[in-house]
Amino acid sequence: MRRTVPGRARAFRRRAPFRPRGPLAPYPGWRRRPVPVFLLDLDNTLYDASTHCFPGMHRHIHGFLMAELGLDLREAQEMRERYWRRYGTTLAGLMRHHRTDPVRFLEAIHPPGLADSVPPDPGLQEWLPRLPGPAYVFTNSLASHAARVLERLGVAGEIAGIFDMVHAGYGGKPDPQAYRRLLRQLRVPAWRCIFFDDSRANLRTARWLGMQTVWVHPRRRRRGQVGSPGEWRYRSGEGLNCSLET
Ligand SMILES: [Mg+2]
Repeated sequence: MRRTVPGRARAFRRRAPFRPRGPLAPYPGWRRRPVPVFLLDLDNTLYDASTHCFPGMHRHIHGFLMAELGLDLREAQEMRERYWRRYGTTLAGLMRHHRTDPVRFLEAIHPPGLADSVPPDPGLQEWLPRLPGPAYVFTNSLASHAARVLERLGVAGEIAGIFDMVHAGYGGKPDPQAYRRLLRQLRVPAWRCIFFDDSRANLRTARWLGMQTVWVHPRRRRRGQVGSPGEWRYRSGEGLNCSLET
């Protein structure tokens, strides 16, 4: 069943400070003020990672695999794809089969310049402050990288916190443990959360845990495009078209 989220969101002032590192500040305010808690994926949800970050990140992953495991480029490409499909992240496969150090891997594939081509997003700058609850980024990358992307987009001040692979214990989405860790740190129940992601697998886990889920259509982020019946145009500007699933 699909239903529409109210379009007019009451402005919400975030209380938790922006902390790219360390444990997330819990959000106990939902008991006093029953607002939804928004959990937002980063890549291909808040910005077009396929254009701006993934090509560079894939090059760094291939370089890491070639240097660490002695593969050639083609073998490295195949391994990245295979582990990503099988385990949800390349890192999960590397840790399982090669005992790769997750910190070294994540830092190698998210160098500081990776987000330099991400442009500011006026639509997102308008949309995020209008959400009727706090917004957290829930990403399978590093918080330092996510923070740089948010700075580039011009929305770092609108995000209450970032939950990354380090917080998740290196088992990221769609592993249910990552979601449970996030809920424990925020101290909010799953049913209070609205989870946005472009990955169906990630959405399935969130739905199974009791969250409301919003599928961000990866190819419908073009300006001026209107959602088809049953879809809800979530923000203006760039036009992030979403389906709210329950
Ligand atoms: Mg994504």
